[in-house]
Amino acid sequence: MEIFGMHVEAGKKMYKNVKIGELANFSDFSIPVLVACGAHEGPTLWMTGAVHGDELNGPWALRQFFWDLNPQQLYGNIVITPLLNVLAFADKNKISHIDNLDLDQQFPGNPNGSYTQRIAYVVFNEMKKWANFVIDFHTMGHVFSSTPYTVSKDVPGVDSIVTDKAFKLARIFGVYPNCHLNLATAGGELPGTTSGSIDITCLHHNIPCFMAEMGAGGRWDEQAIQVIRDGIDNVLKYTGMIKEEYKKPGKQMIITDRYFLRCNHGGFVRMAVAPGQLVQKDEKLASIYDFWDERETMTAKKKLFVIAVRHEPVVTTGDRMGFVGCEWHEVEW
Ligand SMILES: [Zn+2]
Repeated sequence: MEIFGMHVEAGKKMYKNVKIGELANFSDFSIPVLVACGAHEGPTLWMTGAVHGDELNGPWALRQFFWDLNPQQLYGNIVITPLLNVLAFADKNKISHIDNLDLDQQFPGNPNGSYTQRIAYVVFNEMKKWANFVIDFHTMGHVFSSTPYTVSKDVPGVDSIVTDKAFKLARIFGVYPNCHLNLATAGGELPGTTSGSIDITCLHHNIPCFMAEMGAGGRWDEQAIQVIRDGIDNVLKYTGMIKEEYKKPGKQMIITDRYFLRCNHGGFVRMAVAPGQLVQKDEKLASIYDFWDERETMTAKKKLFVIAVRHEPVVTTGDRMGFVGCEWHEVEW
């Protein structure tokens, strides 16, 4: 295959730093690209990491996966862009200081745009030629602790066959909580969830894509890294890219609505719940303290599933205390 200006022969793996542009100090900045061209014909799976620069579990798991991968046994191709927002990565931040744009709101990008828009353009230009399906690895922000979950989206105007394929791939990834959001009706979503993201741009180009939210930012979580390895493995088996039987995911939770818990007061927060926990109505979620009083007690307004909780203790009015599912059902595969 010919991709990003490199020729990869069947049965081989290659690595390249693809130049995006130059810094003011005359050095180049580039993104790493890993390609495995299978010895046998098949589809192309594309996987991305660190579209937000401080989300590190995906990049490391992808690196380990790639070096263990034997392209002689592979049906199809694997393209990995493990570290998309390289300057945000160097900043140890979600976005880069160069233009302060969220890369996951800039797809399909602009070849004449700013730093972030050019990365989106260079990547998506190849992605739309090659990808038959895409997994985009994220984490929650670095102030949280989170249980691994997937996100697939029902986007107005997207072919329902593509939506269903993305949803199936997300489920075969194998984790218990899976968010499946109808963007026509979903409530408390952040802007990146609704436009310019990798997943939505792929869906609009008829490429099934889901997001895997694997742990929290700014650190490695060995459990989340293993979940990623197992998930990729099962997707490869399910899609026939590796000729082995896939594992049925069993019971899974499909979350159809979710929101961030936000505090009304500032101070120190002590969380009363943990990621992965089911919480009943009126159960305590968190308390905000000053040096004399408990300023606020947050309780559940209804039955909730806790996706993530804040572990960073210092909060201002309106800060996010946690992320919860508020509507869901269980399914079995
Ligand atoms: Zn992210």
